[in-house]
Amino acid sequence: MAFKVWLQRGGQWIKQAMPGYCAFCLAPASAGRGWCATCLGELPWNLQPCRQCADPVAHGDSLCGHCLIDPSAFSTTQAGLLYQEPIKQLVHDFKFQASPRSGTLLAELMLLTPPATQVDALLSVPMTATHARARGFNQSYWLAESLSSQLGVPVVSARWIKDSPSQRTLNRRYRRMSS
Ligand SMILES: [Zn+2]
Ligand SMILES: [Zn+2]
Repeated sequence: MAFKVWLQRGGQWIKQAMPGYCAFCLAPASAGRGWCATCLGELPWNLQPCRQCADPVAHGDSLCGHCLIDPSAFSTTQAGLLYQEPIKQLVHDFKFQASPRSGTLLAELMLLTPPATQVDALLSVPMTATHARARGFNQSYWLAESLSSQLGVPVVSARWIKDSPSQRTLNRRYRRMSS
């Protein structure tokens, strides 16, 4: 890894590891939060989501082109933030570095835009035993448990019984076919 990239990654880790300071800019954080008011306002909020899949849509549209042509089996998706920086880095640090503060921040940010309707249970995307061993722990289950205690909703677990290609590498149609 180039020295510059290493320094940037180190800086990011230090920022995220300091309670009391904003995880994004290192200014003093808002009381009881992991971020400052300025950074919170500048996060990539998903302001115009598709009602079904939560992909961003043009102003005034309720469904995206995908959902109009090839609707998914689920009826609604909640995604308060877009997968853009600095959220992308936060997800990456939690997923691949198992950074506990990144996980806590993600859970707290998710709770700022909870589902509009009451849900009966939370189900994290299950991991295969191979993936769980490679990652060290199950990040999505950890997130579901954090949200569960805050929302007062139980977590139900599922087991992946078929080894399939990583979802990250598949497009929407193949994701559905592989699950
Ligand atoms: Zn900040
Ligand atoms: Zn959609």
